[in-house]
Amino acid sequence: MSGKIKMLSDMLKSGKISSEELTRRYISRIERLNPSLNAYVSQTFDEALKAAARADILIREGRATSLTGIPMALKDNICSDGQLTTCCSKILQGFRPYYSATVWEKLSAQGAVMLGKTNMDEFAMGSASETSFYGAPKNPVDISRVTGGSSGGSAAAVKADMAAYALGSDTGGSIRQPASFCGVVGFKPTYGAVSRYGLIAYASSLDQIGPLASSVEDAAIVYDAIRGQDSRDQTSAATPEGETGLDIDIKNLRVGVPEEFFSEGVSDEVKSAIEAAICLYKRAGAKVERVKIPAFKVALPVYYIISCAEASSNLGRYDGIRYGYRAESFSDIDDMILKTRTFGFGKEVKRRIMLGTYVLSSGYFDAYYKKACLLRERIIAEFAEVFKSCDVLLTPTAPTAAFKLGDKSANSVEAYLADICTVPVNIAGLPAVSLPCGLGEGGLPIGLQIIADRFCDKTALAAARFFERERPVSAPLCEEAKCEVEL
Ligand code: GLN
Repeated sequence: MSGKIKMLSDMLKSGKISSEELTRRYISRIERLNPSLNAYVSQTFDEALKAAARADILIREGRATSLTGIPMALKDNICSDGQLTTCCSKILQGFRPYYSATVWEKLSAQGAVMLGKTNMDEFAMGSASETSFYGAPKNPVDISRVTGGSSGGSAAAVKADMAAYALGSDTGGSIRQPASFCGVVGFKPTYGAVSRYGLIAYASSLDQIGPLASSVEDAAIVYDAIRGQDSRDQTSAATPEGETGLDIDIKNLRVGVPEEFFSEGVSDEVKSAIEAAICLYKRAGAKVERVKIPAFKVALPVYYIISCAEASSNLGRYDGIRYGYRAESFSDIDDMILKTRTFGFGKEVKRRIMLGTYVLSSGYFDAYYKKACLLRERIIAEFAEVFKSCDVLLTPTAPTAAFKLGDKSANSVEAYLADICTVPVNIAGLPAVSLPCGLGEGGLPIGLQIIADRFCDKTALAAARFFERERPVSAPLCEEAKCEVEL
């Protein structure tokens, strides 16, 4: 349950196993499990073994950190120099960036071993990873169910132990919601705490990179390794100094429970799992109060207006000239761009580009985009008010447990509702963690979301660590996700 990174790191440092051997075991697990789980869309095994050999030298020389030699994965929208990075879109087929994201530079400088890129919704647009050009990944707890999205491949890879940890990105819930569906820990840091340089943009004012891991402790180790200001991302900011330990005195913790997060379609099993979690904090002496975020009801429309507006601008660069796919036949340049975008983007991406273009067009700008920006300010202000009397807020991560594959893809509005509890956090730029807090019908995991104030990332993690220690929850893997190759 807790501390997989530390356990592996101790094994490496004591010489019980080499990084090369550990990497080979992870590779065997991926070869065995990926055909059924579809968690990885590209694999970088040769480079991984080379990185492992380098890590073994660092370990032998006593220069290892806790991430040195540990095999991990990157979401397919995080650039790594010379390696396929496609956002799971046809339009980026074969795209190999010529630079690495800051997060990957930081991790590889510590000797991290990358096994490959993980499956996701096309351009991170979705809640089930079903819009992926490569087909959906499957949930390792129940193969007939979605992993959640958009970082579904990262969540599945961590749950099925095909990576010790993975990075994902979260624009409206894409780290936390798949973490909740697959029964792992997912952490979205404060907006700006982690550089977005090298993350392929979806909605830049909301996008944030963060870890998916098998424990809160692991998520915190990875967060510490990737955070910090970066001159190549002007929205990044320095994170508070000395922001280390995860110990917390629960008796001094002020917990808020925003009632709006328990309305809109939240299932009974989710409600009771979260209420039980709240009781645990109360019994340990935390001060629990019910609070209100009335603007919660506008968060989802605000999110879809702002994110689509930004996406329509960010995705303008895919024109068949600069990147990836180009239509096979065309009459002139306009026709080439038209056909490239028509055939290169999937349906959901095109829907959002059109929606975004519409809300930014003259005549509609004030009615939609400007109004959404004003409402965003209200959401930010309401959270700020609540954080005057609370250290953390406890809510469900998602209204339900993982749904069946194919269930919601035909009905986007219903799929959009899967993000109702996570999007307000992105709109306000806050840090939040999702961790398993219970099992519902069929043993499906249920996630507890812990939200903290801006740049109080460690408070959210520490509050989560407390729960994980007191009541560890681990959903069993289904038969198809089991593998005889032990680590
Ligand atoms: N599911 C949300 C969307 O489709 C959030 C995605 C994300 O966080 N990248 O926009």
